[in-house]
Amino acid sequence: MKRLRANDPCWCASGEKLKRCHGDRSALQRPPVRRGVPAALRSVPESIARPPYLATGGHPTGPSGRQVFDAAGLEAMRHAGRVAAQVLLDAGAEVRPGVTTAELNDIAHDSYVRQGAYPSTLGYRGFAHASCISVNEVACHGIPDSRPLADGDIVNIDITAFVDGYHGDTSATFAVGTINPAADALVAATCEATLAGIAAAQPGRTINEIGRAVEAVARPRGYGVVTMYGGHGIGTVFHAAPHIHHTAHPSATAKLVPGMTFTVEPMLTAGREDLVSWDDGWTEVTIDGLISAQFEHTVAVTADGVEILTVTDDGTSAVTWPNAVVTAAGAGR
Ligand SMILES: [Zn+2]
Repeated sequence: MKRLRANDPCWCASGEKLKRCHGDRSALQRPPVRRGVPAALRSVPESIARPPYLATGGHPTGPSGRQVFDAAGLEAMRHAGRVAAQVLLDAGAEVRPGVTTAELNDIAHDSYVRQGAYPSTLGYRGFAHASCISVNEVACHGIPDSRPLADGDIVNIDITAFVDGYHGDTSATFAVGTINPAADALVAATCEATLAGIAAAQPGRTINEIGRAVEAVARPRGYGVVTMYGGHGIGTVFHAAPHIHHTAHPSATAKLVPGMTFTVEPMLTAGREDLVSWDDGWTEVTIDGLISAQFEHTVAVTADGVEILTVTDDGTSAVTWPNAVVTAAGAGR
């Protein structure tokens, strides 16, 4: 799908060119994020069950095929999803100028433990924290550290809870204080794209319908969609097949079947879609330094639709945005 370009009229009908309106690069770039001191290592009580990869140095060894569950498995997935949703709400509630990302990670850590869950990222492939926290041009996998959030930042918190043998994975982008309208529009579009992608995850459809729906939200507003990362199967395995493309990848023609569980987690960029890694081995930043946003749910394909698993008992989650216009039908329970 064609991406709106800098000299095209802005999608908002202001009559201005995109580059003078919602695509104004000066509004979509923040002072570069500098790394701080990583958050201190935290322990989890021995009474809380660990995921299997903790026994093999954080490196998964078992099969990682697609995850498809019966009613009992889906009930366990709902439980893990509920816990993850609550951790994300708890950490997100503390986002404000001056709070460090290490402090947000501590709040998340305490929330997992309080709910009897193990943070899936803690010890996974050498990652030493309960969450990934990614600010502004950091697109994903940010390491919680001593950097205080500043008014006008956007911050993504990514949570995965391991409960009774199952993982639930969810993330949301939050505004720090007051953000400018161009940044707000990017985050709104990312939330909409996530929910549109989920709504497209219907039984019998192909995986690339998810990415097609994401692109249909992002491209007409001039946003990039990151292709270096995608969603993934999730269940008793943290990262499993299939790869969920967030673009309409031509070869992603495998069919979605009832009982399949996976994540939908598009990253939208204000500028270029390419990411570069810091030498910490984790932090991924946009190559041009413009901001990026992300939301994520774990979902299950049902007999006649799709169910969002990473919500609390009353169906709420942090995957929401005040100005997001959600037009796609069929998402939710
Ligand atoms: Zn505009």
